[in-house]
Amino acid sequence: MPCPSPQRKGGDGRLTTAIDPHDQGPQDACGVFGVWAPGEDVAKLTYFGLYALQHRGQESAGIAVSNGRQILVYKDMGLVSQVFDESTLESLKGHLAVGHARYSTTGASTWHNAQPTFHPTATGSIALAHNGNLINTADLAQMVIDDEADGHLDLQMRMPPTSTNDTSVVTQLLAHHPGQTVEERARDLLPQIRGAFSFIWMDEHTLYAARDPQGIRPLVLGRLERGWVVASETAALDIVGASFIREVEPGELIAVDEEGLRTQRFAEAAPKHCLFEFVYLARPDTVITDQRVHSVRVEIGRRLAKAFPADADLVIPVPESGTPSAIGYAEASGIPYGMGLVKNSYVGRTFIQPSQTIRQLGIRLKLNPLRDVIEGKRLVVVDDSIVRGNTQRSLVRMLREAGAAEVHVRISSPPVKWPCFYGIDFATRAELIANGLTNDEICRSIDADSLGYIDLDDLIEATSVPKPDLCRACFDGIYPIELPEADRLGKHLLETPVHATALPVLNNP
Ligand code: SF4
Repeated sequence: MPCPSPQRKGGDGRLTTAIDPHDQGPQDACGVFGVWAPGEDVAKLTYFGLYALQHRGQESAGIAVSNGRQILVYKDMGLVSQVFDESTLESLKGHLAVGHARYSTTGASTWHNAQPTFHPTATGSIALAHNGNLINTADLAQMVIDDEADGHLDLQMRMPPTSTNDTSVVTQLLAHHPGQTVEERARDLLPQIRGAFSFIWMDEHTLYAARDPQGIRPLVLGRLERGWVVASETAALDIVGASFIREVEPGELIAVDEEGLRTQRFAEAAPKHCLFEFVYLARPDTVITDQRVHSVRVEIGRRLAKAFPADADLVIPVPESGTPSAIGYAEASGIPYGMGLVKNSYVGRTFIQPSQTIRQLGIRLKLNPLRDVIEGKRLVVVDDSIVRGNTQRSLVRMLREAGAAEVHVRISSPPVKWPCFYGIDFATRAELIANGLTNDEICRSIDADSLGYIDLDDLIEATSVPKPDLCRACFDGIYPIELPEADRLGKHLLETPVHATALPVLNNP
């Protein structure tokens, strides 16, 4: 485990590294929230639900509300707290609502691609929010063209030409087919959609939720005294005072209206829950597949301590996602736990470009070392993952400059070697440091004294979820939903020239 490296020690005195504040770790692909609750302030409930889900997407936020006659959508770029204020929320009156906090996967980060997506239907309209990423977007876009050719698509019902995300394509397909109700149309359409989707959508009267047959992204159902809530994570139920009922099952379609809650299956469940949700994506106070995420992370830390012990004086986390595993590492190793890094909690995605001077401070925008805690200590530093390696390299350098005698890095996920096509934006395969380098080489590259990654099977055991029920493709390269050809995948699929020609309805008004 110690890096076989002669080089060392002490910082090199430079704060300027290759760090970019935008060189972030894995980015999640959205938080979704829906509520049906006559008599309640559904816009505010949705606002607070999205607030609890902000970690899942920070590029844009939106809320759609229906008063039974029409749907009103308000969305904009930025954090939930930047997009909405009291007067905006006051104007969103109704008894059901759908909300979304976005990080872009398919489709650029633009206002037109912000969600919920809105579309007129033959009898009204729908608004849809999506967590996940589809892998047959090109086929679905072709279905829109075929619908038009078959006369199912009124020209006035085309998607705005500037919307280029997979969610807009699904919204169009749900909205067409005037001969069917939205529910009937969903039952036909959902089995044709491939990839990761936790959808929440609404028409003027009914709230709908559906989860892909693999249940890759989480989706939970909660109960209010006078209504129902569906959300990405249980933490969002807690914040609005809803009690957790159960997960929306993989392959399940739920509808809620004045007649109550109806449920039906559109596909057999074949669970492949995202393993990375346990490591990093979900909030620690969330429950996934009956497992408390915080407890799972503490257990990962215990296992890391047994597999990769260190002769050290202090265990510190990289806050906040490394914190539970650092607690577990300290507990199992007997090495004291302490806070060696202070996180600026208010660093979200900023639209203010930092000047070059500020950019060069890099990671200090997010983390600052506590010199008096660190000085002269042999540290174990626990982080959740290494993607490109730039952040950890900067972190080690920063700790050495703050006086650390040794820095032993422990990672609570296995090496990330493969990209995710189901809703997490890591990096391209070529950018993933573990794709090209051995663990020893990574250790040297980040200039740590030693490096230990949790073993994949150890991680899976810590979750208590059976291995066949988990997607772990970013670690082992086994993709549970077969991927199409590479040219039919990608964030900018609907923005590329080839599709501009092949899929005219998406690009020509
Ligand atoms: S590839 Fe990784 S991040 Fe993506 S769904 Fe599978 S486990 Fe999760």
